[in-house]
Amino acid sequence: MTTTLDLTTDLLLGDSFVAGTGGTFTSLNPATGATLAEVSAASAGDVDRAVDAATSALHGDWAAVPPSGKAALIHRLADLVERDASVLADLDSLDMGVPNGLAQMLFVPNLVATLRYYAGWADKINGEQIGNDGYFGRPTHAYTLRQPVGVIAAIVPWNAPLMILGWKLAPALACGNTVIIKPAEDASLSILHLARLVVEAGFPAGVVQVLPGQGSVTGAALVRHRGVHKVSFTGSTEVGREIQKVTADTFKRTTLELGGKSAQIVCEDADLDLVFPSIGMGVFANSGQTCAAGSRVFVHRSLYDAVLDGLGGAAGAQVLGDPFAPETTLGPLVSAKQRDRVLGYVQKGSAEGAKLVAGGKAFGDAGFFVEPTVFAGTNEMTIAREEIFGPVATVIPFASDEEALALANDTDYGLAGTIYTQDLARAHTMSAGLQAGAIGVNGWSPLMPQLPWGGLKSSGVGRECGYDGILANTESKTVTVVL
Ligand code: NAD
Repeated sequence: MTTTLDLTTDLLLGDSFVAGTGGTFTSLNPATGATLAEVSAASAGDVDRAVDAATSALHGDWAAVPPSGKAALIHRLADLVERDASVLADLDSLDMGVPNGLAQMLFVPNLVATLRYYAGWADKINGEQIGNDGYFGRPTHAYTLRQPVGVIAAIVPWNAPLMILGWKLAPALACGNTVIIKPAEDASLSILHLARLVVEAGFPAGVVQVLPGQGSVTGAALVRHRGVHKVSFTGSTEVGREIQKVTADTFKRTTLELGGKSAQIVCEDADLDLVFPSIGMGVFANSGQTCAAGSRVFVHRSLYDAVLDGLGGAAGAQVLGDPFAPETTLGPLVSAKQRDRVLGYVQKGSAEGAKLVAGGKAFGDAGFFVEPTVFAGTNEMTIAREEIFGPVATVIPFASDEEALALANDTDYGLAGTIYTQDLARAHTMSAGLQAGAIGVNGWSPLMPQLPWGGLKSSGVGRECGYDGILANTESKTVTVVL
């Protein structure tokens, strides 16, 4: 860990760091329960000021920066993130408990890759010329413009703060929008450090602002503000549902990346050497605090006992502890509330008759740890129906591909899914049949800036990343010139 961390705890409002007028909130280290910092909270008045600054920048200094200039600034931010990679990774490990190796290997590099990918798009955002039938007998020249949506509120959860922020921030900037970021109360510190890098990179005032605070105050004020044109939200299905109702009032563009209950399907011809490491990662990575967690593991009956044993073994082999210890594979859950919620689901699983194969208890004397837990169960049980957001898997048998798909699709969610098979035809057929926004075959949930990401059903609305990210951050305008 970096020896001394100089924490940023104030709002980035305009181009200045200022104390919020909404009081403060406490940020805890989930590995120990100790207080890390008191973070400034933005009030509704601070949100008004940020929207004013974002609006001025949108039509003024940011609009004046040519596309290649925007690309250069986004690349400059990526350079600074690379320079401060260990500080940023350390802040996420301290603040939300991710093993430091995972933060170094995924969270920060993914942010850099996303910034660079969209920096490349900034001078390639084009409309098109459209042939047409003419206007009352006169020819026309018709074309579309792709223009920024406007002021965008990026509301971020705590489970992978920097990575998820990158999926919102980078395309929004490349397309010429201005962005007001609302980090999660449980993990604001790395994003507040990023705010410093935004200033150092030289973005004009108001292009990127960071307003930590309570969801019900700061987040809600952004969502209802008439000067915000789009809300890009990642978080729980429950909050996403409320946000969509509020944004309907002002017809704001709304992208919702919500919860999941994703399936990992182990077909009868799966290569088990490949399945075991991947399936464990799919459900236990980041202590199960992953929207795409493959927490329902469907296994062909012929492999059921072997996979149940293997996954139980993978759970037992996890090393829980200090996120900064190199041997640690699982850190704590983010808060005591989240730990207790997960343990509540474990109790419910046992009460409904699921067989506990591994784990099932809190771990250690300090911090908010839960043992990786494996149940043998059915798709009807609460543990297989509701998002737990902890390291808990339910392993469920099936007899045919059709039954596997029917079970996997029998859920309110539709974020991701994984299919393990060596048969190409089966891989493509089942990928087409699985109702989810992103499917991995023989690999769990690849997350890359080039690949669109988002969910069906209660897992959300819209897509981030890839070219979809450009479409989601621009409005199309049709111009028809009668010749
Ligand atoms: P959450 O919904 O509690 O909070 C998410 C963010 O919304 C936080 O910044 C919070 O302060 C803010 N917020 C809360 N109430 C608000 C309101 N009324 N108005 C505006 N903003 C408000 O979610 P969480 O507990 O931080 O994150 C976990 C959830 O996020 C899980 O359900 C997980 O599946 C989901 N998630 C989804 C994806 C995805 O890509 N689909 C990725 C990561 C996490």
